[in-house]
Amino acid sequence: MVEGTVIKAYSGFYYVYDGQEVWSCRSRGLFRHIGQNVLVGDRVLVRPGNKGTGTVEKVLPRRSELVRPAVANVDQAVIIFALKEPDPNPGLLERFLLIIGAKGIESLICFNKIDLGRGEEVELAGRYRSAGYRVFLTSAVTGAGLDDLRASLQERISVVAGPSGVGKSTLLNAISPGLSLKTGGISVKLRQGKHTTRHVELLPLPGGGLVADTPGFSSLDLPDLKPGDLPALFQEIIALEGGCRFNGCMHHKEPDCVVKEAVEKGEIDGFRYRQYIEFLEELLEKRRRYH
Ligand code: GDP
Ligand code: ZN
Repeated sequence: MVEGTVIKAYSGFYYVYDGQEVWSCRSRGLFRHIGQNVLVGDRVLVRPGNKGTGTVEKVLPRRSELVRPAVANVDQAVIIFALKEPDPNPGLLERFLLIIGAKGIESLICFNKIDLGRGEEVELAGRYRSAGYRVFLTSAVTGAGLDDLRASLQERISVVAGPSGVGKSTLLNAISPGLSLKTGGISVKLRQGKHTTRHVELLPLPGGGLVADTPGFSSLDLPDLKPGDLPALFQEIIALEGGCRFNGCMHHKEPDCVVKEAVEKGEIDGFRYRQYIEFLEELLEKRRRYH
């Protein structure tokens, strides 16, 4: 048996990548009978047949399941923004971080088009690095930062997220030469215009790692969180846990709060803290309305 990852599922065929080659497989009819579906991203066992064909015999336990795009076992999301064209929208970036964090998926942040920037990346990168995130500064035009970004995708299943026009497809092409995704936003428009089902595929990267060809997290509604879950989604707040006077301090109006002290001393970024409060109030308001 060969163990691999389903990288594409299309009209009854599963394409399974074992790290070297792709096996085009039928699944055993069994799966349909027991109601088990096979998702892109699943680890499976394949019984090899002739000439690169095979049969999926077993789906290994799934660690997680994302709905949009439908991918199993996603390890991380790369949130991409541009430094210019379009300008970064830090509030939107925070929303992506929250939504992705709430799903238990790690976020990497990539500021692309640094060839168009005039130094503003230093402050942006500093803010998110000091909050505990890995930040990449890239240019798909000059190639800057691409090796680091590619290295961070090794051995993992990644999805990309971010507004349109920031260079998601261009970056995917650049880190994985040999792929040919449409760029310039055209492919995205086509997808929205037609109601054809777009099947997500995982693209094998040189040196290992798989990345979804379809961006995810297009809905930016706040996830269904309890206000009490919020502090744990801010890494710089977790780092100070237990230091406040009150157990279960929400770091809002409570006295003797180490988080607020850290903000005053500049140890926690003020923008991040204001975002935290904004999300907290949004969640509290939601609770007031529905309960
Ligand atoms: P997507 O909508 O996020 O997939 O964005 P695209 O990949 O389609 O890119 C949008 C536009 O930005 C295209 O015209 C790209 O050529 C351009 N672009 C992408 N990356 C860079 C970059 O690093 N620097 C510059 N100057 N332009 C870029
Ligand atoms: Zn506190």
